[in-house]
Amino acid sequence: MTTAETFVPGPNAEGVRWDLTPLIASAEDAQALLDAGIARARTFESRYRGTVATITPVELAAALAELAAIENMLSRAGSYAHLREATDVTDPENRDLSAAVDRGMVDAGNALRFFDLEWLALPEEVASELANAPELAADAHYLRSARRLAPFMLTEPEERMLAEREPAAVSAWQALFGRITSTLQMPFDAGQGPQPHTIDRLLAHVRDPDRDLRRRALETLFDGLEPETETLAQVYDTLVGDRLATDKLRGHADPMERTHLHNELDGAVVERMMEAVEAHYALAQRWFQAKAAILGLERLELWDQYAPIGTGRGVEFLEARGLVEASFGQFSSRIAAVADEFFAGRRVDAEPRAGKRGGAFCAPVAQDAPAFVLMNFTDQMNDVMTLAHELGHGMHFMLSAERQTALSMHTGLALAEVPSTFAELLTFDHLLETETDADTRRALICERVEGSFATVFRQTVLARYEQRAYAARKAGTTLTAERLSDIWLDANRAYYGDTIALPDGYRFGWSYIPHFISTRFYTYAYVFAHLTTLALYAQYREQGHAFAERYLEFLAAGGSQAPADLLAPLGVDLFRPDVWDAGFQEMTRMVEIAERR
Ligand SMILES: [Zn+2]
Repeated sequence: MTTAETFVPGPNAEGVRWDLTPLIASAEDAQALLDAGIARARTFESRYRGTVATITPVELAAALAELAAIENMLSRAGSYAHLREATDVTDPENRDLSAAVDRGMVDAGNALRFFDLEWLALPEEVASELANAPELAADAHYLRSARRLAPFMLTEPEERMLAEREPAAVSAWQALFGRITSTLQMPFDAGQGPQPHTIDRLLAHVRDPDRDLRRRALETLFDGLEPETETLAQVYDTLVGDRLATDKLRGHADPMERTHLHNELDGAVVERMMEAVEAHYALAQRWFQAKAAILGLERLELWDQYAPIGTGRGVEFLEARGLVEASFGQFSSRIAAVADEFFAGRRVDAEPRAGKRGGAFCAPVAQDAPAFVLMNFTDQMNDVMTLAHELGHGMHFMLSAERQTALSMHTGLALAEVPSTFAELLTFDHLLETETDADTRRALICERVEGSFATVFRQTVLARYEQRAYAARKAGTTLTAERLSDIWLDANRAYYGDTIALPDGYRFGWSYIPHFISTRFYTYAYVFAHLTTLALYAQYREQGHAFAERYLEFLAAGGSQAPADLLAPLGVDLFRPDVWDAGFQEMTRMVEIAERR
């Protein structure tokens, strides 16, 4: 056993694993904490059920404090179980604990549900007077925002009917989509003879250096999708029809309204943002032409879109840690210290190994417990950016947990990816300053440009596609595969113009995208977060350390206000028509650097 000081990780971050014991010592302790949390939720129910209609500010503050305490117990036990499972999905003890947690969360949720419903049932004047009371200042936004869907609630028996039929209606269609797209396998030869490939496995080849392999992978994908597209279109048509029907009952005029309410964003702000993105499609087209020239091609084909330019050098874990901490330190010693605590406290699990989950995440755990980062470090430059990204989430969780309650620490979807993207930019800028290997620099810059495009431009194309599909369905048109293909190609041609040739099979590109099925208009939040981050970064470039102080305040504010109010003190005014200009200037600057050869 080595101490933290002398420990040197091997290749692929060998030995860099979590120590979960300070969080919870054993599965038995986790089960005991879970049971205690559920018991406390039941006590809460017997104490408060039926009282919210006449509750005083002092009583409500006490109730919220109790809810926050329960939330912390359940989150801590639940996170511990899921963290254990993430590092070894095959261990039966881990799976048993996870299953127990999932059941326990349902029990606790059932016991606590009355509270939200009674809060929603309050007349607006009463609720707003309570939310404005000084005793409730810490959770005022939580209380107000919980009611944002209240004007669109139906009567209790109606809501119950909708909820009761959900598993046999919406969820059943979503499950069918999931079953088709996750079990679809296409034989494909990536060099080791034909092997069955899932959709994801085929898509992974779009970044392969071998052009022919990229082409064959996409063609195989579209050929494989084609026989499924009528069924997939019918799934989508049914879901869109169901959403429009319930919108009508609830009184939503616009199919995007519920998404905007969830994101706490103004519909006009979102529309202006999407128009600004579309007005800059030419920037993407300029890059596609430059990229064709770099690759020595007349014009890019769809399978060249993500073709790699340059290869990043190898990076071992300790160097990656040093790069991330140095880049954070240039911004603020505070966030560098927060990152350092992740490593020193063994709250980063970076070693890839059998049974461990793929990908990367940062688990917030609980307001009274520190966050944990999981990733699979493979000694590549990309892993440095992933590490920065997850630690960006980590600094958000750690700073907001210090200042906010368990109920108010988390931001919604619109801002959740801002600190992570901001952290990536800090590390990216540091690498541009310090990296001397020309090939690595080029790979980094191209990946940044294309990552921005995939987020800002592509996700806007997806949202426009959805808008048109909903409009067509609303006008009485059944969404067949052919009609969806036409809408899809229209939305995509606006973006690619004639700078990328779209193969015939691309007309089925809509068919496997899970966001359309799970949550309508989900993708514009990615656009919002990315452009917001670029706008914040532009402020940082201008103001330096003065900005860093305000940014730390923003992180510490967590979800205690709506996005527009959280961003205003940072100089990002969502209601100004030119709010996104700085973001596009930054993207243009990146394209200019990438074009230099
Ligand atoms: Zn993230």
